[in-house]
Amino acid sequence: MKMRIAIIPGDGIGPEIMSEALKVLKAVCSRFGHELSYDTFLAGGAAIDAFGVPMPEDTLKGCRENDAILFGSVGGPKWDDLPWDNINGAITPSRGIQVLRQEFQLYANLRPAKANRHLIKVAPLKPELLVNADVLVVREQCSGLYFGEPRGIVRENGLRRGFNTESYREDEVARVAHKAFELARTRRKKLTSIDKHNVLESSRLWREVVIEVAGNYPDVQLDHMYADNAALQLILNPGRFDVMVAGNIFGDILSDITACYHGSLGMMPSASLGDGKFALYEPIHGTAPDIAGKNIANPVSQILSVMMMLDYSFGLTREAKAVENAVDAVFEKGYRTVDLCGPEHQRVSTTEMGELVCNALVEQPG
Ligand code: NAD
Repeated sequence: MKMRIAIIPGDGIGPEIMSEALKVLKAVCSRFGHELSYDTFLAGGAAIDAFGVPMPEDTLKGCRENDAILFGSVGGPKWDDLPWDNINGAITPSRGIQVLRQEFQLYANLRPAKANRHLIKVAPLKPELLVNADVLVVREQCSGLYFGEPRGIVRENGLRRGFNTESYREDEVARVAHKAFELARTRRKKLTSIDKHNVLESSRLWREVVIEVAGNYPDVQLDHMYADNAALQLILNPGRFDVMVAGNIFGDILSDITACYHGSLGMMPSASLGDGKFALYEPIHGTAPDIAGKNIANPVSQILSVMMMLDYSFGLTREAKAVENAVDAVFEKGYRTVDLCGPEHQRVSTTEMGELVCNALVEQPG
């Protein structure tokens, strides 16, 4: 198969972990006989420095011309104090990724979180809670609080007021709900919908529409949970969840909680899907400015984003499984980046972890 990928490393640790993911992708292509072509583009802070905007037209055009986007993450202290455009925050680095999500209507952000048996000892939750932890958070990400209008910071009667709008149209809820039900069908057939139905009108509509969509999926068991309770249950009883569907801000926050199933955000990939095969793949974490430039970041989040890309955009399930197995084999041998390293482990750098995964991929039987 021929794969054409737009690569956007971004800022902070983005370029460091992207290099390792690219090495792994090349190793997959050479082992399984696929042809890879890719172009690298700027976004976020790097694009603001080069072109004065977080999402240059050249980057958008490059994305349109490829089959999938592999994204790092954007932002950092260098750009934190840029003045806000009161209409849409247009010059902040995070606009870089938000524009991509909207431009390609990548409305369903899939964030899988499964406890890895080799990491259970270093994870902060009790092993008996983690054995059954296997959750897929489906976050709506083209609407809701991050995009709603009006938004801004205004001065009224001598005081500044900042405001945003949580807003969902029924079609926006329905399409992500359909995606979540379809994904639940491929798993344990349970879907939990997250809202604040007790206090928010947008949540009342959310719940109504999810119930309407459920009529198409009688084989999937649906329940509803308030977002604050979900935050607690993800810690107390992770095994009760299969697929979870949530709006933009609830999904963003709740999925970070699931990082405690591994003990590090550096383990967590995501896929941003729309209606077709074209999609964007990125870690759920940010640019980790505290560890950037030190060659210590965990590249597994970006490597597993490659795994999700092979599976969802290219239908290469065997290759995706090979990447997952290679990561597992490296953990089984006791290698860890610093975020997951206990006294009994062998500590490795970002680049060493990438090379170990490539070697494990080549060494796999079959
Ligand atoms: P963060 O996710 O960057 O970091 C949170 C913590 O997790 C830090 O201690 C960091 O060192 C650690 N961490 C994250 N990734 C890691 C990895 N691969 N290996 C080891 N440790 C890792 O969150 P933050 O500090 O709140 O945000 C930093 C910047 O990233 C901000 O500018 C923010 O706007 C941006 N951000 C971007 C995206 C995106 O581009 N999609 C998402 C979230 C945050």
